[in-house]
Amino acid sequence: ATAKASRPLDKEKRWAAVASSRAAVEIRDLRKSYSGRSVLDELSLDVRVGEVVALLGPSGSGKSTLLRCINRLETWDSGVIEVLGRRIGTRADGRPRSPRAIANERASVGVGMVFQNFNLFGHLTARENIAGPLRWVQGLSVSEANRRANELLDRVGLSHRADALPRHMSGGQQQRVAIARALAPNPAVLLLDEPTSALDPELVSEVLEVIRRLAVEDGLTMVISTHQIGFARDVADRAVFLADGAIVEQGAADEMLVRPKNPRTAQFLQIME
Ligand code: ADP
Ligand code: MG
Repeated sequence: ATAKASRPLDKEKRWAAVASSRAAVEIRDLRKSYSGRSVLDELSLDVRVGEVVALLGPSGSGKSTLLRCINRLETWDSGVIEVLGRRIGTRADGRPRSPRAIANERASVGVGMVFQNFNLFGHLTARENIAGPLRWVQGLSVSEANRRANELLDRVGLSHRADALPRHMSGGQQQRVAIARALAPNPAVLLLDEPTSALDPELVSEVLEVIRRLAVEDGLTMVISTHQIGFARDVADRAVFLADGAIVEQGAADEMLVRPKNPRTAQFLQIME
């Protein structure tokens, strides 16, 4: 295996590097409503290159909607989202782009997404789940795509499952394949929407360990919505607490998740203990 041994996070070093880096994602005054009901309320958030942001908040607070807007899986009412300084999803005249243009843009701007329910192609093997999109979207040859898929399967510790179909894999293994697939085009930012919420408790740690390694060893920029408070405290640089579509509190994860200032954050953390 090529996987490097895990080492503990040097948070101070990370902070210094992250603070001086440029914005990976900039969200300004994002507004989104469903049938007139506000779901995101003038939300603004910056994510620096190399930063790991944990998105916390009760069910229905808007975490998934926010992540889906960043990845342009949703449209929004007003506001701006830029990824590495590029405005995604709108044309110069402000009209929406075609779905095909958005798919190309998503790939070229480099946003990857991991979903709660894995969303693997059920009829494709683990390797094909990764190699397929590399061929269809990125235009890689079969051999290049397979080589890259094998590399990524090795990285998530699943070389031995390359030819398995999703239904023959555990939930933890499926989610690791989904992470490998999201990493395949080398995204600038990886979004993970409650990546362990659908897993049996005994399978949570293998997935968190893969995510932890991406943060520590690869310095990958990530936004993770999660209810795993301990994981967020250890791995995230910054924690953002969302309620009713607005940021209630944010700060250094190891500080805010231990000593929250806002009573709503405190109450939420108490319930999650
Ligand atoms: P979270 O991920 O924090 O649980 P969501 O972003 O899924 O929150 O949902 C935020 C709010 O938007 C909720 O009130 C939810 O019911 C509503 N919502 C989400 N998706 C839709 C949709 N497709 N149609 C209508 N309402 C939606
Ligand atoms: Mg959600």
